[in-house]
Amino acid sequence: MNHVETGALRTPLEQRLAALRGSAPQRSLDARALAALAANPGCRRRAVLDAAGVDKAALAGRLGHPAPFGQSPFAIARGLSFEKRITSDGFADLLELLRHHLALPAPYGSDDACPVETPQLVTDPKRPAERVASTRAALARASRTPGVWTLLHHPLLRLAVAGSTVLLEPDVIAVRPDGRWTVVEIKSFPILDGGADPAKVGAAARQAAVYVLALRATAAELDAEAADKQAADKKVVSQETAGKPEDDTFRDGPGALREPFDPYLEPEGLAGAPSGTVLLVCPKDFSNRPTAATVDVRKPMAVTRRQLDRLTRIEELLDALPPGSSFDLAPDRADSELGSTVAAVGAAYSPDCLASCELAFHCRAEARCAGAVETLGRGVRGELGSLRTVDEALAAAQGTASAAPAHSAVTEQGPVVTKQGPVVTEQGSAVTKQAVAEEAVAVADEAVARLAHAAALRAEALACAVPNRVHSPDGGPEA
Ligand code: SF4
Repeated sequence: MNHVETGALRTPLEQRLAALRGSAPQRSLDARALAALAANPGCRRRAVLDAAGVDKAALAGRLGHPAPFGQSPFAIARGLSFEKRITSDGFADLLELLRHHLALPAPYGSDDACPVETPQLVTDPKRPAERVASTRAALARASRTPGVWTLLHHPLLRLAVAGSTVLLEPDVIAVRPDGRWTVVEIKSFPILDGGADPAKVGAAARQAAVYVLALRATAAELDAEAADKQAADKKVVSQETAGKPEDDTFRDGPGALREPFDPYLEPEGLAGAPSGTVLLVCPKDFSNRPTAATVDVRKPMAVTRRQLDRLTRIEELLDALPPGSSFDLAPDRADSELGSTVAAVGAAYSPDCLASCELAFHCRAEARCAGAVETLGRGVRGELGSLRTVDEALAAAQGTASAAPAHSAVTEQGPVVTKQGPVVTEQGSAVTKQAVAEEAVAVADEAVARLAHAAALRAEALACAVPNRVHSPDGGPEA
């Protein structure tokens, strides 16, 4: 994440978010942060803090749980050296992988002789607007020249998120001879015997999905610009020939997006050029030789888009905050006050947070303090239905407590987990609340029954094992 300059605050929402952030500079989102949002879509806390641009690492420090977050310098150095190898020698290694793995339709193939272009992009980090413009120009030019491989190294893309602009820098964008665009993600973790760490592949896929979203937005804008230019030319010709303007032909404004977003529906025209499949390039086995795999990122794209839409509806989450809430990290602000404000925003902790969120140690401590089953992972959490604490689960397994009272307490407090997922009951009608309550009791009963069954099986297994553990008088196990 980067610090961004805060200009004049335009909308009431921006003013509200700035008030939440306090005096600290705003932290802008980047591809990793957007991907992490998609990794835990149920977390209101992260959504609010990210929307407000709060420095979560500094906040974690103030709350007494700083997290050693980010890549180690060794991993960064290894990644840079690997990327340098892939992009050296005129991208020879990368081209071979692209040709081999993308399976282009005829007449192109794994041994096509299409020319290769590597346009020079503006690379000065102090001129982001020019970098974005040079990327857009290179993409527009490449889209007009089929039958050529065009490789853009470290292009810069823009994506509008909750009213502000996020700048994103993929490793490589390949414009293929068949006109499609493929995001190439270069990672330094190895692919061993054709397989890689699923958590790392998942994180890379979510990050690449953010790039594809930004690329689709860019393609749609270029498409709209081309259509507007075409319409303007047509208008001039029409005016010249008929001598009067056509009123209803040019209703869309410049840059209007003509296609609704759906990752599973390929848009028409240039907007459909970015492929929903990306190429992941990693070291092969324990060597520095590159290998690659294609990854379908349409599902993470859909999740990320939902999360981004949610950020634009952040008012709903802000409305639930206590009046006067602020995450201001000013030195004179009491840490306990900050802690209370953070605690007022619901979190959805899971051990996966440790790899993706700066607040993870704080949220883990909070969940442990509450004895929450979330600390055991999402799988266990889902299996336990509306049993929310480890104590409740143990009591249910031992047959010393019924699930119904625990559940009714939960329904009074708000969210209830049913088989279909979390249900918010505060705004629900009495009938809805009753229906939710009945289903939650059924889920709790089912979880209790399963726990009791598992406890009975365990007791039975232990009882069978007891004779083997009886020791003979001489100290050895009895035959
Ligand atoms: S660590 Fe906390 S704030 Fe971050 S995603 Fe997890 S639950 Fe949400």
